[in-house]
Parts: sequence; structure tokens; C-alpha cells
Amino acid sequence: MFNTNALNNSSEEYRVAVFFHEVLHAYLAALFVADPSVLPNLPDHDTIAYNYVTVLSLNLHYMYGLDIDEANALAWEGLRETAFWDLRPESIKNNITAINQDHRLGIRGHKCK
Ligand SMILES: [Zn+2]
Repeated sequence: MFNTNALNNSSEEYRVAVFFHEVLHAYLAALFVADPSVLPNLPDHDTIAYNYVTVLSLNLHYMYGLDIDEANALAWEGLRETAFWDLRPESIKNNITAINQDHRLGIRGHKCK
């Protein structure tokens, strides 16, 4: 879950990334209830990091014309405690963190009306 105060000045793209992330939590919960055998025994964030970051990145890329690295950074938001995050090289993690901070502060991206 996200702290919604963090969204106050954030870009539209950032808010959409957060929305997708939350929808994935709901989707995974529903999927698991429907068929408990579907998912590996991982926390949601690990499942999202492993299976959905690319899809989420591509959606943000096509929706907003963000370059793929910027879209990928937004897709990683909220997933820093995962093992898959830990596998990223330090320079990439720093870049992702900086991009997300800029979007959270509204320095990058479209301003919400
Ligand atoms: Zn989450």
C-alpha cells in the first residue's frame, strides 16, 4: 500500500503507476481466492516485481510516451523491499529512485489538473 499523502504533488503518470499497482493487489487477491493453486507462495510485491513490472512499464510507455527507462522506474515504485529489487545494479536502483522522486514531487511528468 502507498501513503496517499505522497501523491499530493505527484505527476499524473506517477498516480497512474500507483493505481496500476493497487489494481494488481486487488487482482492477485481475487485470483488467489478463485484458485489458491495459481500463485506461488510469494508476497504480492514479489509477484508484481517478477511478473508485472514489464507489462506496467509498457503500459506507461504507450499511454504517456515516456521513455522506457522512465516508465520502468515508475513501475518499480513500491517494490523496493523485494528480492528482485535487490538484484538490480546499484546505479540502476539510484536512477529509478531519482526518477520516482521527481515524479512524486511533480518535477517530471504531467501535472494533474
Ligand atoms: Zn503494494
